[in-house]
Amino acid sequence: MWEQLELVNGVLYRKWFRLETDEITPKEMRQEILTLAHDDVSGGHLGITKTVQKVCQQFYWVNLHSEVADWIESCPICCARKNPPRKNRAEMENIKVGEPLERVGMDITGPFPITKFKNRYVLVLMDYFTRSVEAYPIPDMGSYTVARYFCKEFISRFGVPRIFLSNQGPCSEARLFQQLCNLFGIYKTRNSSYHPMTDGFVEKMNHTLKNVIASYIDEGQTDWDEWLSFALTAIRSSVQETTGMTPNKLMFGREINIPLTLLHEPLPSTPPS
Ligand SMILES: [Zn+2]
Repeated sequence: MWEQLELVNGVLYRKWFRLETDEITPKEMRQEILTLAHDDVSGGHLGITKTVQKVCQQFYWVNLHSEVADWIESCPICCARKNPPRKNRAEMENIKVGEPLERVGMDITGPFPITKFKNRYVLVLMDYFTRSVEAYPIPDMGSYTVARYFCKEFISRFGVPRIFLSNQGPCSEARLFQQLCNLFGIYKTRNSSYHPMTDGFVEKMNHTLKNVIASYIDEGQTDWDEWLSFALTAIRSSVQETTGMTPNKLMFGREINIPLTLLHEPLPSTPPS
């Protein structure tokens, strides 16, 4: 309840939406907005709450929530999908984290149908503070492959996690740790440690990721690696229930521009030629 209240110039208001605009969006724009917020690859066919929150960051109209609900209930892809969008109310252990990359969970899912790029598995890395997710299609589960992607794609951008959690088993963790040290050219990392995962965050994120990818893949399901990065865009630009913010905002301090953003934002002023 308290988070729904806002004090403006000494007057208490109840916040119904995360409004950043006081304009009422014209009717003729709404179909395009709903298409971009839900159907587009940056929308990811996510559920009602996440789609409403995505729209509300920039737009508002009366009955917005019920129009989004109607839109999703009549969406042929969501209706046909085996796991329709639903609110996951499973209790998760509340792990306290104080900054981005303090605690990162790793999982490898698959095997999936082999793609034309020879990928069969997905390496998934999730940050507990920002609720951000990175995922890389990989051809095998070997420790060298995993360590290589982890170093070159994740650590090079985000840095070394303080605590690293996985369920891959102590043997593969030891091999992976050794490969990471080899790739970094270091003998020992004192400030990093491995722990088994004990909560449902990673499982829940994997479920969401698979659902989003399932909305776009071809019938043979052999192009899932082409859609993986778009699924991540959809998830990272959606408000997360646990933080009330998007992973992008917490990781980068700003929202990234998605097609929905460009629909509303004025073009930046161009310098005189
Ligand atoms: Zn849909």
